[in-house]
Amino acid sequence: ERAAYAALKDLPAETTDGHRVHLMANMAVPEEADALAASGVEGIGLFRSEFLFMDRSTLPDEEEQFAAYKQVAVAFGDKPVIIRTLDVGGDKHLPALELPQEDNPFLGFRAMRISLARPELFLVQLRALLRASAFGRLLIMFPMISHLGQLREAKRLLEQAKAELREKGVAFDEQISVGMMMEIPGACLQADAFAKEVDFFSIGTNDLVQYTLAVDRMNANVADLYSYYHPAVLRLISNVIAASHRAGIWTGLCGEMAGDPLATELLLGMGLDEFSGAASVMPKVKERIRNTSMEKAQQLAEQVLALATVEEVVALLQDKTE
Ligand code: PEP
Ligand code: MG
Repeated sequence: ERAAYAALKDLPAETTDGHRVHLMANMAVPEEADALAASGVEGIGLFRSEFLFMDRSTLPDEEEQFAAYKQVAVAFGDKPVIIRTLDVGGDKHLPALELPQEDNPFLGFRAMRISLARPELFLVQLRALLRASAFGRLLIMFPMISHLGQLREAKRLLEQAKAELREKGVAFDEQISVGMMMEIPGACLQADAFAKEVDFFSIGTNDLVQYTLAVDRMNANVADLYSYYHPAVLRLISNVIAASHRAGIWTGLCGEMAGDPLATELLLGMGLDEFSGAASVMPKVKERIRNTSMEKAQQLAEQVLALATVEEVVALLQDKTE
């Protein structure tokens, strides 16, 4: 089996009728960069920048962040690396920020909400990311956006960071792409409005399932209700992809669902442009893509989107694709 996957490594993620998608990997720490760059993935679809901030009592300064982002940019050369700005709160704690205790942390002060409330910290990260963008091909992604105003404010701060660097004559990628996570149902329903103001979307099914079905992603007592095959979740995903294409931008998916081979043909048929999961599972996803046609995948997606329960969806996918 390993030899078969090795042979797949240099082949494109392309269907039998020539529809090409992109397979990327999620990355947690920069130390993984060299091994991932050599593994055959086309880039990094999600680099969670939290790693730099956690398990320590001080915040990383601009130089430390710059060094870490630059290391990743250099390791991937001209392959794209999507770096997500700080996504803490919820299940991820950060001692240095002294975040308040909250009754509903997943609905509380987390991710972009913290970055926008503390622009002086956010600007440090943005300047570090921009400076690193001169050394490779970085894309910037904002997490947990629900209101258009948050996106606009984040972009305004990004422009401010760019202006500060320009003034000092510091190099960065003037064309750097800016995207947002689609992981809040309200934003997914309003995808057409957001699509006009970003370069790409990346669907975060881990949180999207939690928020759509009101099921805590960490709570074993309700784990049987947590499924990305729920028809409501699938409709949101489909809506996001369709809205992005109408606006001429692309959509990736970086939650666990991207690495589940049972979901591959369905996501392909809904038009997903980029899949980002654990590098170890991506060969299986590639195999699925190379063994079907876009026409078949679209028919499957249409059938699945007409179903009413998780069980029906899973049964059909098993029947059609296994
Ligand atoms: C997600 O929510 O699907 C996601 C990829 O982000 P995280 O798991 O870091 O919340
Ligand atoms: Mg998330």
